[in-house]
Amino acid sequence: MCKIIKLILGTIIIIFSTFPASAKGYQNFKVAIYCRAQEVNQMGDVNWLKSRWDEISSQVHVDKVYLETHRDVVLVDEKTIEAAKKFFRERGVQTAGGITYTILESNRFQTFCYSKPESRKRVKEIAEYTAGFFDEVILDDFFFTNCKCESCIKAKGDRSWSDFRLDLMKGAARNLVVGPAKAVNPKVKVVIKYPNWYEHFQGCGFNLEAQPKIFDGIYTGTETRDPVYTDQHLQQYESYLIFRYFENIKPGGNGGGWVDTGAMKYMDRYAEQLWLTLFSKAPEITLFDFRRASGPIPDDLKAPWQGQKTSFDYDEMMKPIKLPDGETANPTTMARPAGYSFEVVDKFLGKLGNPVGVKSYKPYHSTGEDFLHNFIGMCGIPMDLMPQFPEEANVIFLTESAKFDKDITAKIKKQLVDGKTVIITSGLYKAMQGKGIEDIVELQIGDEKTITNQFWRRRDFWGRSGKVYESKSPIVLPEIKYLTNDSWEEVSCLASGIGYPVLHSADYAKSRLYILAIPDNYGDLYNLPAEILTQIRDVVAKDMYVRLDGPSQVALFVYDNDTFIVESFRDEPVDVKIIADIRFTKLSDIITAEELSGEPIATQPRLFGRPAPSPDKNVFKISIKPHSFRVFKCE
Ligand SMILES: [Zn+2]
Repeated sequence: MCKIIKLILGTIIIIFSTFPASAKGYQNFKVAIYCRAQEVNQMGDVNWLKSRWDEISSQVHVDKVYLETHRDVVLVDEKTIEAAKKFFRERGVQTAGGITYTILESNRFQTFCYSKPESRKRVKEIAEYTAGFFDEVILDDFFFTNCKCESCIKAKGDRSWSDFRLDLMKGAARNLVVGPAKAVNPKVKVVIKYPNWYEHFQGCGFNLEAQPKIFDGIYTGTETRDPVYTDQHLQQYESYLIFRYFENIKPGGNGGGWVDTGAMKYMDRYAEQLWLTLFSKAPEITLFDFRRASGPIPDDLKAPWQGQKTSFDYDEMMKPIKLPDGETANPTTMARPAGYSFEVVDKFLGKLGNPVGVKSYKPYHSTGEDFLHNFIGMCGIPMDLMPQFPEEANVIFLTESAKFDKDITAKIKKQLVDGKTVIITSGLYKAMQGKGIEDIVELQIGDEKTITNQFWRRRDFWGRSGKVYESKSPIVLPEIKYLTNDSWEEVSCLASGIGYPVLHSADYAKSRLYILAIPDNYGDLYNLPAEILTQIRDVVAKDMYVRLDGPSQVALFVYDNDTFIVESFRDEPVDVKIIADIRFTKLSDIITAEELSGEPIATQPRLFGRPAPSPDKNVFKISIKPHSFRVFKCE
């Protein structure tokens, strides 16, 4: 008897141990697939659906599907929606509804008009219809308006398009979507998914100030695609930053991140978007969409750096997948790169605490130095973007968008009087010029530019004298002009025999204001020499327990439990140094269990006539493979 039980138990254990992650589900997040109305429309045909679903679900574990009822005037009928719900319910997969409020996506994302009565009526009907089927409904990217019909022109009146549309869509959220949906189904949770162009939302009426309070939840578009060969030119870091930003807008109410398979030149880029979404601690990740997840794996996305055991190992991804029944499945669809990417990071995500970064403030509906925070993140400075001024923070980084707060200068002054550090960009200083910022320090930032490839670092950690470092290509920087002995160059650039500040500082009350010169082309931040970037990091990230010393396009993700991730987006291997607080003498690689010991250094400058400062940091040298990350615990 006992023997038999042991035998049965043994068999059960063997079965479970051979289950792939795709069958078990992931420990640290849920996975959803979004199904467009065009595909849901075909789900009445069970054979059509079953063959596709069996294929997808053998490649990636899926906890939930979003079944869209409307897109581009396609409305799925009741019978089909019920058939699809039944299909997934029988397989233990959660269902939620989806709505895309587009008239014709391919016509420059033609949205609904929210001024004309008949169009408003249709918006409301779709919300009511969908809430009748589901207890959760998500709106895909398009609950905005770009309509400039005569009704909208008339309704706008003297207001700006942004002001008009912000107000219009706030009302539409409450009166045409959330209110009517809840009237039909009081239990329904209505979620708005915002896309990746957060800097420009106000122009089309996405209202980040009012709407997250109206909707039960928000959701984040973390797709960044190729930073160069797409019209948006979004930086990789945004897949992390935007989730954190939206989480700060609705704490605990940001349901997940959302990634599609569009516009990538190599498969690692897809994995990077999924990983950064999860590094931001998104509880759920949605794959857009069912059609693409059923599509074949393109054969031209294997990157030239493959074969070096990088974080996304293409050959590993293409290996047969073990299924629960003992059979194996071959990677066939785009669901597999997702499944493989999830398995890679699920092993350690649970060991990471809450993400932390340098606090930066972006007032609601603000713009200026668009998306710059992501470039700073790509330079190895962890960013934590928020909609409220973080007065409790010891260090605050502000870009031009902060000018939308009319009290920004007073707020900066207060931080400095309280002994806290503020770093502002040249763009913010320029925007506030003549509006009282001279009260802190008198600078002149006009339209004059300098073009240079030489940068001067006047000291380094080891107390050596200054040295000139060259950038890969010339960089166009604003000329910051200042009054001698009133404020000071911390990092300079040299041009035709003279120089200008790159990082400049001015004492005020108990603290110091720093001004960072931002190149005309933000991408030139990546061309700054590593030694110069490191000196900028030493100021901006001075309060972080770990900092990076190395070139750009290596990002640092820091957590509040002494763990961190270093990820390189470079096509070649890179050596970087980790500068950790002196209390940390060892770094443990969470993936490989390798242990690294540090070398103590003093980072404070030796002041004239004073003894050399004692070591305050430990330096650890690490190498990172192309498009790869390493995960560490500080001990
Ligand atoms: Zn209109």
